[in-house]
This record gives sequence, structure tokens and C-alpha cells, in this order.
Amino acid sequence: MSPALRVLFVTSEIAPWQKTGGLGDISSALPEALARAGVEVRILVPAYPALPLAFPDARPIAEIPPPGGRLPASRLLQAATPGGVPLLLLDCPACFERPGGPYQSPRGGDWPDNALRFGLLSRVAALLASNASPLVWRPDILHCNDWQSALAPAYLHYLHGGGAATVMTIHNLAFQGLFPPSTLADLGLPQSAFVFDGVEFYGHLSCLKAGLQFADRITTVSPTYAREIQQAELGFGLDGLLRHRSAVLSGILNGVDARWNPATDPLLTKHYDAQHLAAKEANRRALRAELGLIGDVTAPLLAVVSRLTHQKGMDLLLAIADQLLDGPAEAQLVVLGNGERGFEAGLRALAARHPGRVAAMIGFDERLAHRIEAGADIFLMPSRFEPCGLNQLYSLRYGTPPVVRATGGLADTVTDCTPEALRAGLATGFVFGPPDASALLAAASRAIDAWGKRRLWRRLQRNGMSMDFSWAKAAADYLDVYRAARAARDIAAASGPEYNGG
Ligand code: ADP
Repeated sequence: MSPALRVLFVTSEIAPWQKTGGLGDISSALPEALARAGVEVRILVPAYPALPLAFPDARPIAEIPPPGGRLPASRLLQAATPGGVPLLLLDCPACFERPGGPYQSPRGGDWPDNALRFGLLSRVAALLASNASPLVWRPDILHCNDWQSALAPAYLHYLHGGGAATVMTIHNLAFQGLFPPSTLADLGLPQSAFVFDGVEFYGHLSCLKAGLQFADRITTVSPTYAREIQQAELGFGLDGLLRHRSAVLSGILNGVDARWNPATDPLLTKHYDAQHLAAKEANRRALRAELGLIGDVTAPLLAVVSRLTHQKGMDLLLAIADQLLDGPAEAQLVVLGNGERGFEAGLRALAARHPGRVAAMIGFDERLAHRIEAGADIFLMPSRFEPCGLNQLYSLRYGTPPVVRATGGLADTVTDCTPEALRAGLATGFVFGPPDASALLAAASRAIDAWGKRRLWRRLQRNGMSMDFSWAKAAADYLDVYRAARAARDIAAASGPEYNGG
């Protein structure tokens, strides 16, 4: 039997301890699925205050002196996730022991030293993937995620002349980690890296570009998004590089975590599955009571759980909300989210205009998100772009058919309720094309009409609930990418020092 593949998975967030979005969910679920598939995987994540609190028995395993530039000293603590995956906590109080989120202060602005904080994460990841690692355990693959760990392949290239094969996953191309050129020296990267085929991007240092330039393989989180980011419209200036590297770029859909299962979810009032959908009603009643919704209990309850941003189409939602609520179905709406202040204020004003019929829950509340998925009738996700999207997957699984825009992972996971798709047993939701308010209103109205047709609605719910979004499938696809990355690295080693990726 060949030895297990060793993977170091580097991430800037991990659920449930530190999460701002989908990356947090993926960082706990994918490594555990990889471990179940026989991969020897370890996770490297900054020791934000929540982590040492959650793992008080984490033990120090290595001291890392200042690794160059203005990067500070750090140490590694080792713990293990509840699923048994070793967790390496990057302990550097000066960088990570602070209030607020992983990227922003409690007042909402980006931390001014984010380049150094995530430069350190990337630098240590590269160290652990190189021959200079202080650990005996050496990965075959370094798997980086988003800009926060994307400098690691560049560090391996410029400072170590190689090491583990590298895979770079894009969870959202819109966030790139752009910093002034002077940051290069602070990060301990050579001036020679500040070139077109290095880390330079229109006069700035781009962390994400570094990863895309130097990784052996690039993945993103849906096949459609993998195509979309190679076009100018959603390429954020990196579409040219991504087209250049298209032979090593692929899309792998995220899975759904076992915690999101209406048959076992401990946060629900009553469990249900595709064969026992009547029990969903108890969750609906409990949710309406919890949110203080009053009036017609037979009115459809629409829901949104989202970051409140332009990307997520929250302006489109606000543009149609009054019309939707004043329509003949007298729909009700719950929105759980936080983000841009203007959208938060707009939602509060909407709730004030429709007392007892709109619940604007401004904040981040994981537990409420579960109850909303179970208790709502229809889920709205009008994203302008969506690399994969998790909430439409949760909605499908919870029998809450989603209304989505045909973009990225939404296009790959939701099938529009056309007569043909219904006959074929494939329809799972409502899909619209143009990113405008009238298209959203038309799709949401179609959903409300269909909701009124009980047998049709049950079919739609059951179609969605029977879809397979298992992490085991995603893990198998990542394994193929890891093997390809290692093969590319072996070829590189045999070809001499000039070779530089695909
Ligand atoms: P993104 O990562 O772009 O924010 P995803 O759909 O991939 O979008 O993932 C969002 C994740 O964050 C989901 O697990 C969703 O339930 C959760 N989420 C987003 N906003 C909130 C909120 N305000 N409260 C609770 N969970 C939220």
C-alpha cells in the first residue's frame, strides 16, 4: 500500500470558532472529509483568542524565530479538532490576540497590519512545507485558501527554491490582499519578486496573485465560477492570468456539513426529512413566534441569511421588497445578516414600514440561521456573483426552495422550476438571469405562485432534499487535484530549476 498523502491545509478561519463566511465552514469540513478518505491532513490557522479558549490543552510544538523582514517571532501549538484532525495554531499574540473579527477591528475597518498578520501565516505555512521546517512531519501538498495564505507559494519559490507541491483555492476572487510596494521588504520578500510574473499587480503587491502565479494547481468552488473568473466581468483584473493558467484551474463544489441536516439538527423545534415534510410546519410556527411575526399564518414566509453587501444583491432585495410584501399573497420576510451600514438601515426601515410582517435581524447568529432554514418557505439569494454559495445548499436540504440568480455555484446547484425540469424530476428552485430588480421580482413571484400549489411544492422540496452534496465527493475531487499537483512538481524537479508551474 502506498503511504498516505500528507496535506497541510492553511486557512484564516475555521468554524465554529472563527468564521466570517463560507471559508470557515469549508475549513472544518473538508479536512475531516479528507482524513476519512485516508489523507494525512493537518490544519494551520492563526491562534485568534477563541482558539486557545476552545483548546486549552493545546501544547507548544515549535518556536519560530522572526522569519525575515518585519515579521515577528511565533510558535506553534498543537490540538485536534473534534473529528480528530491535528490543528496547528499559529500563536503570535502581537498579530492575533485582539478583539473583533479576523480581518477587521470591532469598529469595522480592516486591521492596518493585515499584510504582516497574514504574511506571517503564509510565511510559516511555506516554512512547514519546506526542507527548513522545524517539524518532523512534512506535507506533500500545501493547500492555501484565499489571499490570506496565498503568499505561501511565492515564499516557497523565492526563499526555499521549492518544497511541497502547492494548491491554491479561490473562495472569492474579489478579496485579493492588495498592499503598497513597500510592504515587500516588510514581508521579507526579495525586490526581484515585484515583477509582472511575480507578486506585482498594477503597482501593488497582490497576495492572491502570488498564489495564482506560483501554485501548481488552482481550484475554485464551482465549475461555473471557474469559467466566470476567466472573463473580464468577474475576473477582477486577474482574468488574464487565470486564462493563462486555465490548464491547471478547475472548479470543485463545496459539500454540506453534517450539522446541516433537518433530520438530526439539534437547533430545530421538530426534526423532519423528505418523507415527513409535514413536521416542517412546527419549525415554521416556532420561527414566526420567535420573530414576532403576526397576521395571516398562511402567508408565505420568505427568508434571507447573508452578508449584507452589493455582491449578495441586497440592493435588489430592497428595491423589490415593498412590492413583494404588498402583493396579493401578502408575503412575509425575515432577513438575518450584517454588513454595509446602508443595507442594515434599509432593512430596519423596511421592517418599520411593515410591522409584524418583516423581521430584520441585524447581526450574525449561526443558531438562528438554522431555525430560519427550517422554518421559512422560500429562500432568496439574488447574488451578483457567487463562487459557490452555501445557503442555497442548506435551503435545498431543508426543503426551503431557493430563488437564485444564474451565477457561479448557484447556477451549478439549483435547477429552475420549468415544466420540463419538473417532469424530469430535476426542478429544485427558481433561477433568474439578469442582475436586476424586475428579474428578481418575477422569479420570487413565480416561487410564491408555486408555493400555493401544494403537490407541486412537495415535489420541488423533495427533489432538492434528495440531492447529494456530500463532502466525501468533494474530498475525492481534491485528492485528484493533489495527485496532479504532486505529479507536476515531480516533473518540475526532473526538468531543472527553470520550470515554473503549468
Ligand atoms: P459567503 O462566504 O460569501 O459569505 P456563503 O453562502 O458561501 O457566502 O457562506 C455563508 C455562510 O455564512 C453560511 O454558512 C451562512 O449561513 C453564514 N452566514 C452569513 N451571514 C450570516 C449571519 N448573519 N448569521 C449567521 N450565519 C450567517
